Amino acid sequence: MAGRGDDRQLQLSLVDLQEFNSEAILRSFVCEYAEKHGFRAVITHSNDKAIHFACQHHRRSGRKNGSERQPLEQGCPFALAAYHSKSTRSWTLKTKNCVHNHPCGSAQNAAQKRVCADIAALHRAGNKPAFIQQKVVSNHPDMEHVVTRKFVYETLRNLRKRELRARRAAPPLEDSLLET
Ligand SMILES: [Zn+2]
Repeated sequence: MAGRGDDRQLQLSLVDLQEFNSEAILRSFVCEYAEKHGFRAVITHSNDKAIHFACQHHRRSGRKNGSERQPLEQGCPFALAAYHSKSTRSWTLKTKNCVHNHPCGSAQNAAQKRVCADIAALHRAGNKPAFIQQKVVSNHPDMEHVVTRKFVYETLRNLRKRELRARRAAPPLEDSLLET
């Protein structure tokens, strides 16, 4: 675990103090950088002096959810900031926080697959989406920022679509008898 963190730290330190001659180049660099590391970068605040970048999970997207409402500071803390220098007319990128509190990239894909399998099993057992979300988050706490209510609904919708397609491809015997 510590080794992986060190690797990440090393990769991220490469970002630090890079200079960019234009805002467009800076933005596309951050975009590409995020893509390479398996997350999406969003701009949280910008003006002509500074641009603040965060991870797409910087804010928990879970809305009011009974007593379980999560404060914003539980979102992903990852943050970069770029500062503009008037004298050199360039942007300098700095790492504010290089740590994500959720899996990224291929680790995220693998974790997401496990989460989807969990959702499918809980759904088959007849559970409601709210319960499914709670249960999946408690099974996979590091995926808390990914497993929002919306994510559960989308996964269930995809499941139903797949079930329908499978049923259409191979209609049960009774159905085909009724049709004739
Ligand atoms: Zn993140």
